[in-house]
Amino acid sequence: MTAIAFDVPDEIKAITDGVAAFIRAEIIPRHEKNAELLSNARRTFTDKGAYVPEVLELIREVRMASARAGYYAMSAPESIGGGGLGYLAYFYAWEQVYHQCGSHYWLAQFMISHWAKGPSPVLEKISPQLRDSVLPKLISGEHSICFALSEPGAGSDAAMIKTRADKDGDGWLLSGSKIWITNSPYAEYAVVFAVTNPELAARRKGGISTFLVPTSSKGFQVERLINMWGHVGTDEAILQFDKVRVEPQQLVGELDKGFKVGMLGVGLGRVYNTARAVGLGRWALEQALEFVKVRESFGKKISEYQGVMFPLAEAAMRLHAAHLMGINVCQLLDKGQTATKELSMTKAYAVEVGKNAVDAAMQAHGAMGFTNEMHLTEAFISVRKANVADGTNEILRHVISKQLLAGDIDL
Ligand SMILES: Cc1cc2nc3c(=O)[nH]c(=O)nc-3n(C[C@H](O)[C@H](O)[C@H](O)COP(=O)(O)OP(=O)(O)OC[C@H]3O[C@@H](n4cnc5c(N)ncnc54)[C@H](O)[C@@H]3O)c2cc1C
Repeated sequence: MTAIAFDVPDEIKAITDGVAAFIRAEIIPRHEKNAELLSNARRTFTDKGAYVPEVLELIREVRMASARAGYYAMSAPESIGGGGLGYLAYFYAWEQVYHQCGSHYWLAQFMISHWAKGPSPVLEKISPQLRDSVLPKLISGEHSICFALSEPGAGSDAAMIKTRADKDGDGWLLSGSKIWITNSPYAEYAVVFAVTNPELAARRKGGISTFLVPTSSKGFQVERLINMWGHVGTDEAILQFDKVRVEPQQLVGELDKGFKVGMLGVGLGRVYNTARAVGLGRWALEQALEFVKVRESFGKKISEYQGVMFPLAEAAMRLHAAHLMGINVCQLLDKGQTATKELSMTKAYAVEVGKNAVDAAMQAHGAMGFTNEMHLTEAFISVRKANVADGTNEILRHVISKQLLAGDIDL
């Protein structure tokens, strides 16, 4: 039985089955073998909140095993050594990861390259001089990157960034600060956005450029890891650049046109978040369905109470809609459409629906829903954060409004 009429192409079906088999063979055994290390946050992270070296090694192993199996760089362009499989395959693969693993087998989150952490269309724009030294280890999963755009004074309004790239001979000196940068404490390279033409930047006519910067560069510093939502560990950090020298070949894309580079990964990022929300929502709903069929109160299984089941039924309705939206928008993107309105609607809707589904599943579990062993709280935090990351819910509504007003009213 299937709830979705769309005929999944055979090659995508093979990918989804392959991802599921990879999780069984490479992810779950690693979790079982390293149960204490991976489930006790006091062991997973250092006092400052960084992954301990053994965990970083497991993450690297997962990336590299998945790259060998063909999943890690599956949707990165073929021109940089990726699989070029596009959006629909990416959606199905990520949905499988989160639906199968929930927040429990979290190493699976490293088996496919997230556009801001590894191979993605952004890397198509690096200079020919850097391709041979940089790309192979990124494609193989040995190395990773981070995407350094946001600053303390510039979030949704990224044009407000203040990090400067001042001309220094034939290159530049980078100075400034970045915040919320995912994977930055662990990455070998940072994709950094900086003002190269203050006059153009002040008029919002460009003037911002993108650079590929080794995180080992002199003057590059991870100033502080940012713990969020009660966690003792983190992926996000504050970065400082103190006159970091960058050479001409480190420019990514065209001078003063950095946002064009930034936009190259946004589509995959929003598809990823849609798949994450749908997958986690379905996983949480299934946990709840198992629970309500056995838990009893007042002489009945709690599944017999509408008060328990209706929120789960509503979660199912909305997840189904979000799932269909995800499949639809990926087909538009794979046809070469920008699908600005549809992608914004899909990501904004899916993350809200995913969050509400996990919340409903937690409620159905009573106190059990808040325990670490259920992993529902991690799932909730994961989708809740996606309401802000990769375009906030409000900014996405702003984009939808602009498209509607411009006459894009096909629904
Ligand atoms: C988990 C996580 C990971 C992240 N990883 C990265 C990363 O790797 N690299 C990176 O560069 N950044 C990263 N970010 C930062 C993210 O891009 C920003 O948080 C996001 O752009 C919002 O910016 P802000 O937090 O400064 O909020 P603000 O822009 O200050 O917004 C505050 C509130 O005002 C609302 N708002 C702002 N403008 C408008 C408007 N015009 N209309 C309506 N409402 C508006 C926002 O929606 C929000 O609710 C990450 C964020 C999170 C949560």
